[in-house]
Amino acid sequence: MDLGFLLHALIPSWNSVAILATFFAYLAIVGSILPGKVVPGVILQDGSRLHYRCNGLLSLLMLVGLLGIGAKMDYISPTAISDRGLELLSATFVFSFLVTLVLYAAGCKSSNQGSSLKPHFTGNLIQDWWFGIQLNPQFLGIDLKFFFVRAGMMGWLLINLSVLARSIQDATVSRSMILYQLFCVLYILDYFVYEEYMTSTWDIIAERLGFMLVFGDLVWIPFTFSIQGWWLLSNKAELTTAAVIANCFVFLMGYLVFRGANKQKHIFKKNPKALIWGMPPKVIGGKLLASGFWGVARHCNYLGDLLLALSFSLPCGISSPIPYFYPIYLLILLIWRERRDEARCALKYKEVWAEYCKLVPWRILPYFY
Ligand code: NDP
Repeated sequence: MDLGFLLHALIPSWNSVAILATFFAYLAIVGSILPGKVVPGVILQDGSRLHYRCNGLLSLLMLVGLLGIGAKMDYISPTAISDRGLELLSATFVFSFLVTLVLYAAGCKSSNQGSSLKPHFTGNLIQDWWFGIQLNPQFLGIDLKFFFVRAGMMGWLLINLSVLARSIQDATVSRSMILYQLFCVLYILDYFVYEEYMTSTWDIIAERLGFMLVFGDLVWIPFTFSIQGWWLLSNKAELTTAAVIANCFVFLMGYLVFRGANKQKHIFKKNPKALIWGMPPKVIGGKLLASGFWGVARHCNYLGDLLLALSFSLPCGISSPIPYFYPIYLLILLIWRERRDEARCALKYKEVWAEYCKLVPWRILPYFY
């Protein structure tokens, strides 16, 4: 690809802006009107808590259904996204940049002292814009943090489906493409089935909404997690049956650990007496779960996620490092995040955390890290 073509493809077109605007408008409207379980978020410092309407699965299924009908009736092209990958990437980047400038300005002007909207300043403009000023900014009653992560996860699936449509049109569908698509569909659907678990994650409870999070949700998740799919459009990987089975095994193990650990923590937070692996939970200081996956390593959920990430890349074989971008990035991110989370927990739980660390010495991978 020559540089001129690349630069031209990166200029956001009106078409890409229209696709993005329609997608956000759809999400805002259906997110507000479709039924869904209303889940209370964690209790914030001032004693307040937000409520999240978890209707992401219904919104997604309806969207895919509508797009499918639109494509069948020739109103829209199923390859509309895959044909405009770079344009959409830059349009989304520009949107993220602009929206975080607005968030910065709104945060500066806010005089609200509630935990959700209270402005946090360091005095360093770049740092405040990057990490955000407010914890849970809203727009027209929509919680933006929850909205953006939902948009990112759905965007990833839409990109993948469009890449699959391109592959079908080009008659290049391979075992690798099918495996990659299948794993991602299962992972994304699972995310929305358990969308309520998101409400107790680090991003939602601890991270303010700045460029880092908005860019991560809207640009990074959909456009870099789908690199394997894009790569398979122009590259081939021959997979033996044994490789396919091994790949499915890595996915399954990753899924069991990832979902199992996140589920155990979520259940424990709701009911600290609930059975874990069929036994009464081991609890430290009445606050921390130290059995089940949380007795194996202090962030077993990260291990599961890393195995899943690896399983999304293995279908591409080992001829190129490009499809391994996602697991490598995730490894770095989760090690960094685990360190930050540990520091936060040490501060919050004090000697209870120290006791937990003594009892469960492994951070992510038992006997290794
Ligand atoms: P966790 O879900 O692990 O949440 C950490 C919080 O859980 C801690 O701050 C603490 O919060 C609580 N906690 C920690 N240990 C215990 C314990 N033993 N018992 C009870 N509570 C405990 O972290 P994340 O929010 O970072 O991750 C959630 C999921 O999202 C993970 O599976 C992760 O892999 C995934 N993820 C994926 C990313 C991707 O790009 N694919 C990026 C980031 C995350 P409290 O103060 O409430 O007790």
